[in-house]
Amino acid sequence: MAASPPDENPGTDEQQELLQLLYAAPVGLVQTDDEGRIALVNAAAAQLLLPLAIGASLANLLDLLGPAMPDLALRARSGAPGELLIDGEALALRVGPEGRQRPLVLSLTLRRLQAGQLVAVLSDITAQVERERRLRQNEAWLNAALTGIHDHAAVGLDAEGRVAHWSASATQMTGFAREAVLGRPATIFHAGGATTPERLLDRLHEARADGWSMDEGWLVRADGQRYWGSTMIVPVSGIGDGDPPAGFSLVLRDISDRRDAHEQRRRASETDHLTGLANRRVFFEAGQREIERFRRAPRPLALLLLDADHFKRVNDQHGHAAGDEVLRQLAGVMLRSLRQVDVPARIGGEEFAVLLPSTGLEGARLVAERLRRAMAADTVTRADGTVIRYTVSIGLALMQADIAGLEALLERADRALYAAKAAGRDRLVVDGE
Ligand code: GH3
Ligand code: MG
Ligand code: MG
Repeated sequence: MAASPPDENPGTDEQQELLQLLYAAPVGLVQTDDEGRIALVNAAAAQLLLPLAIGASLANLLDLLGPAMPDLALRARSGAPGELLIDGEALALRVGPEGRQRPLVLSLTLRRLQAGQLVAVLSDITAQVERERRLRQNEAWLNAALTGIHDHAAVGLDAEGRVAHWSASATQMTGFAREAVLGRPATIFHAGGATTPERLLDRLHEARADGWSMDEGWLVRADGQRYWGSTMIVPVSGIGDGDPPAGFSLVLRDISDRRDAHEQRRRASETDHLTGLANRRVFFEAGQREIERFRRAPRPLALLLLDADHFKRVNDQHGHAAGDEVLRQLAGVMLRSLRQVDVPARIGGEEFAVLLPSTGLEGARLVAERLRRAMAADTVTRADGTVIRYTVSIGLALMQADIAGLEALLERADRALYAAKAAGRDRLVVDGE
């Protein structure tokens, strides 16, 4: 098929006419090249984007929206002409001068018109999201009010997350006596290993910032019995609007009966169907969260990128189904050798990433080497007895204050991975070494 330059494309005139029409529309419309450089922007979009451009120029859409969507630049480079790259996804941003920032939630739809040409449709959905947030908050408060019901318990926490108020219903549900819990951190309601003091502080922060923090996981009663529960943390406001919260209300709820349904839903939307690892979206969300936590309270954070070596050969020699089996087994090795707080994910065909929270360089190096060796020693045996061996190359990067964000961290790990490939594969390369 001969490629024709854009201006000889028969569809182009019509397209331009349509675009002119759209530019008069009340919805935000921006046309850019693949790097996000803005070619055309209508009035509605300019109005939405200007507050984001404080200290920056209104020149590049990906720069303006990138902070809210780490893989935006990657996705903007993908796709065939006409393809919908992003379908109305919400971007949570903060706008306004330092210290007086307000949240802005934009819905973004991004379509590739042709090579080198993208069009973005933007609208402000802050109000809808805020309404939804309030509704959820109200629901939480309603739940908290139902303290007479045996599967709910409302617990008052102080500003540091220690138990400050205890009710009879809380004793009934958890088995803890008042004297045993007053002054203790709320982590005591969680089963061993299911949370950490750092995680509790993160959640208090999230509750302050978003109005609530909701989580599900293993909880524990005084007698040591574990149960699947939800925990909702809501700030109890100070007097003025901007005052720091006086404390928090923690609503514990036993949802053992909903666990299976919840797990199934979670699996379907969050996991990669071939390997059962986290999918790309979950990985980027988790990565973004870890980066935000790093910004708030620097703590080590490591990222591994793994790419199966000469995988085309595996497919060519043994068939695609065998290749799939290798990927499944490789994922199994990851799941078995990582901690519960680590986030292993499949982010591409034969490309994997692992976030290692609270892990410094030496720890991450050990984990990576352990993974590499386990994979090199692993064998996949096919039904006909054929034995397949595989290896991976790994790039390791450590989060640092001068790294702009998740995408920049990924780029570093990717450079290290590339170096590992170039140096002969089946090896680990650490960024900067
Ligand atoms: P290297 O990374 O070592 O440079 O070599 P490679 O052969 O792995 O290189 P490349 O990244 O170019 O090719 C990756 C191949 O992985 C291409 C594709 O055939 C295969 N692949 C990608 N996704 C899947 C999948 O889901 N299943 C199977 N069976 N193969 C896949
Ligand atoms: Mg690859
Ligand atoms: Mg490969």
